[in-house]
Amino acid sequence: MAASCRVCGKSIALNGKTAHGNIACEICDGCAAQVSGTSGRRVLLESIDAPVLLMQGNPRQVVTANKQAVALFGKKLPEIENHRGGQVFDCVHSFTEAGCGKDVNCEGCKIKDAIVDTFITANPHHGISAELSIKKANGTKTYVVRVSTEKLGDFALVRVERYDAEA
Ligand SMILES: [Zn+2]
Repeated sequence: MAASCRVCGKSIALNGKTAHGNIACEICDGCAAQVSGTSGRRVLLESIDAPVLLMQGNPRQVVTANKQAVALFGKKLPEIENHRGGQVFDCVHSFTEAGCGKDVNCEGCKIKDAIVDTFITANPHHGISAELSIKKANGTKTYVVRVSTEKLGDFALVRVERYDAEA
């Protein structure tokens, strides 16, 4: 059985390495390795048909995001790149003095824990959801945020599967 790489179109032997898990599953090893280069990672992220953030581990922050993520968060790329995940989500706890991931309210944040664990263990996490207080121009609302995470080289992909206010 073979599938074609979404980036370069070459066939990927599915019975060979399936190192790229769930999020980057239709991307060949060669293209996945391009994540360390600025132009290669752009093509790679845009090939994923979902809002995706590319995160680095230390300091833990968003390196960049694809267009679907930019649209989902209603931000410009410079408001996303080099920011903490919580700042991208507009989580209220990311605006405290301690900051995203360090505030006392961040203890037990499932999304933070999943991302940290993916960096430490290289294990993916699927469908991790949390209720976050999201601060928008028109006030603060509780949002349900659901993500999946996956290690890719020295980075982690964070696919945003849900980001909406509770009904
Ligand atoms: Zn490829």
